[in-house]
Amino acid sequence: CGIVGYVGHRPALPVVVEALRRMEYRGYDSAGVAVLDGSGASRVEKKEGKLANLEAALAAAGEGGFPGSTGIGHTRWATHGRPSDRNAHPHVSGDVAIVHNGIIENFAPLRAELEAAGVELESDTDSEVAAHLLRREMESGGSGGDFVAACRTVLRRLEGAFTLVFSHAAHPDVLVAARRSTPLVLGVGEGEMFLGSDVAAFIEHTRDAIELGQDNVVVLRADSYEITDFAGEPSEGRPFYIDWDL
Ligand code: GLU
Repeated sequence: CGIVGYVGHRPALPVVVEALRRMEYRGYDSAGVAVLDGSGASRVEKKEGKLANLEAALAAAGEGGFPGSTGIGHTRWATHGRPSDRNAHPHVSGDVAIVHNGIIENFAPLRAELEAAGVELESDTDSEVAAHLLRREMESGGSGGDFVAACRTVLRRLEGAFTLVFSHAAHPDVLVAARRSTPLVLGVGEGEMFLGSDVAAFIEHTRDAIELGQDNVVVLRADSYEITDFAGEPSEGRPFYIDWDL
């Protein structure tokens, strides 16, 4: 129901959690985060229920439990699979962590394909397939082993309505996000970039925003962003300045 992302120079966790709080008004049944620590590791926490449940779990991990300045976050409004910790996002496969809003309509044949290949799915969601497809695309050397190209390859296989953010622990300086028929806005800061389902996610940090168009992919780094279509052809979002207060 709500998506957030951060790549920058600050600790990502508080930025991501605050963004989730700002989007609480959208309603949700679970929440989760993943933070990439820059040395090839990532940490994920996700909890059914209110943000307070997630925050309690994060607090239990202690100060410094989630180091890193790249992170993604999610609030879920379940469509496939009941609200539970297991079904909450991010979904993880190896080094890959993803968050998804919307519905991947062709999840059933994709799940069957993954199961036939020996993948054990951990949730009942339509979303989890995206994480496994990306890990397998990377491991098979498809897409030249290139993270961004592999994300686009996976996106071309998905049908339905989705906003997706992909992260890979071995590529901690980049997030890849895409949208089809669900919203995604980019916030452009100084040495930091933000993603949100809406501007509420980042309005306290920057008012320079770009609305992603239909079937756009954005590759996000702390100092740059690149927008393409799912084939990798250059595309443009709609830049705007947020001259209002929420
Ligand atoms: N379809 C996904 C799920 O049920 C995402 C739902 C959402 O948009 O929050 O987990």
